[in-house]
Amino acid sequence: MLFKSLFAATALAVTAIAGTANAEYPERNITMVVPFSAGGPTDTVARLVAESMSKDLGQQVIVENVGGAGGTLGAGRVASADPDGYTILLHHIGMATSATLYRNLAYKPLEAFDYVGLVTDVPMTIVARKDFEPTDLNGLVEYVKANADKVTVANAGIGAASHLCGMMFMSAIQTPLITVPYKGTGPAMTDVLGGQVDIMCDQTTNTTKQIQGGTIKAYAVTSAKRLDIFPDLPTAVEGGLKDFQVGIWHGVYVPKGTPKEAIDKLNASLKKALTDPNVAARFAELGTAPSPDADVTPEALKAKLESEVTRWKPIIEAAGQYAD
Ligand code: ASP
Repeated sequence: MLFKSLFAATALAVTAIAGTANAEYPERNITMVVPFSAGGPTDTVARLVAESMSKDLGQQVIVENVGGAGGTLGAGRVASADPDGYTILLHHIGMATSATLYRNLAYKPLEAFDYVGLVTDVPMTIVARKDFEPTDLNGLVEYVKANADKVTVANAGIGAASHLCGMMFMSAIQTPLITVPYKGTGPAMTDVLGGQVDIMCDQTTNTTKQIQGGTIKAYAVTSAKRLDIFPDLPTAVEGGLKDFQVGIWHGVYVPKGTPKEAIDKLNASLKKALTDPNVAARFAELGTAPSPDADVTPEALKAKLESEVTRWKPIIEAAGQYAD
């Protein structure tokens, strides 16, 4: 009897292992963690990509928003998830800046992940509530310098793109301002629209609709050239902010140790999503474009993250401001 049940248990275990080995990934839904609030710019990019990947993979890629601490809570959640291909992360430049800004992170950004590929590089815009007094970038600089004790700047926490861009602005005008952190710039935008906070620097994937609708004021874009969607909006450099140029690159990561088969599938699916005409058209409407195919690779994302950690480290260390 004992022998019989032992035999049956062993046979079951063998079948289960064989089943796993033969099964085609993905067999069930995939969670795509976005480390910021729903309705914000990173979320918008993720949902467009996730929708297209779902069609290709035949399983739902479900976006889960894990906002807070400048994106480090969501990234930490993926770093400690099972490396089985069912929990993935869509994050931006904050992955690189957090490596230096947070000295006590529970995970090491350069070691905790495997890479799927780059997604897009999104310009930032310097915007304000609709009734904010200044009408152009020069006026904005003068006004905030004169009212530094009153002007509030929204961001998505230390290490977020909006934080980085806000710091660049304050350093360019050599004036510290009052910052108001949110779990993402989705909710921050709600407060800019409601007039509870004055200014923000945020991705075009969050600000375009509002700028076009005239519900917020825009002063500049942080790209090297003006954008087709805003031909009248000057670049920050044109507006007089020397060297003020930044692009918010996004990538897809998986926990370290994820099987190559899963990474390859995710990569092929991400590549397809980024050539999906609907995704490309929506990106264009939002002032961005899919990363070139050669960059949608694990190697390109790894190289980008490494070079960006190296680029921002001395800048952050010179500023001497850390998240802890
Ligand atoms: N735009 C945000 C940032 O500052 C993130 C977000 O809400 O997507 O990084």
